[in-house]
Amino acid sequence: MKSTDVIEIAEPRMTLGDQFFLPQVLVGLGTTMKHMLRVWTGTDRVIQYPEERREDIPVVEGGMHRRSYRGVHRLNRDEEGRVKCVACFMCATACPAHCIHIEADESPWEDREKYPAKFDIDELRCIYCGMCEEACPVDAIELTSLYDIVGLTRQEMVFDKSKLLRVYDETQEVEPI
Ligand code: SF4
Ligand code: SF4
Repeated sequence: MKSTDVIEIAEPRMTLGDQFFLPQVLVGLGTTMKHMLRVWTGTDRVIQYPEERREDIPVVEGGMHRRSYRGVHRLNRDEEGRVKCVACFMCATACPAHCIHIEADESPWEDREKYPAKFDIDELRCIYCGMCEEACPVDAIELTSLYDIVGLTRQEMVFDKSKLLRVYDETQEVEPI
């Protein structure tokens, strides 16, 4: 790397006003008031969740994954209703958060060698980067637009194979493969 490619960024210094903090507190309050006024006048849209849900998630035209939002995972099924996954471990290898755990077994079907006997994703560890769906060679794993998942325990947020297939069953009509 050439020295001219290096950009040096100086640490910002606090001004006298910053050191007194009060002006910055007032600036912060001003921002809060500004947003409060925008809500009152209807300029800012507020969704009364959970009574209202956001349905206008942006759509990406032409891509395999039509929505730009990356939410809860699903494991897709093939035409015969079987899990599409062939237990190749590509998604688990690509996952930067190490939150996919797969146990492969000999496939009971003739058209593939392996299938996932166990397939867990820790939805709390996941950073929803989408690397797993990019890595999958058979489009078996996808992130859906579901964003409201609730669990009372950490264990509930580890989605196993049956739960991931259930997400597919619940979303495939609105988000086909
Ligand atoms: S979205 Fe990213 S972090 Fe989450 S399981 Fe996939 S690869 Fe891992
Ligand atoms: S990359 Fe796809 S086929 Fe391979 S283990 Fe992951 S979900 Fe299964």
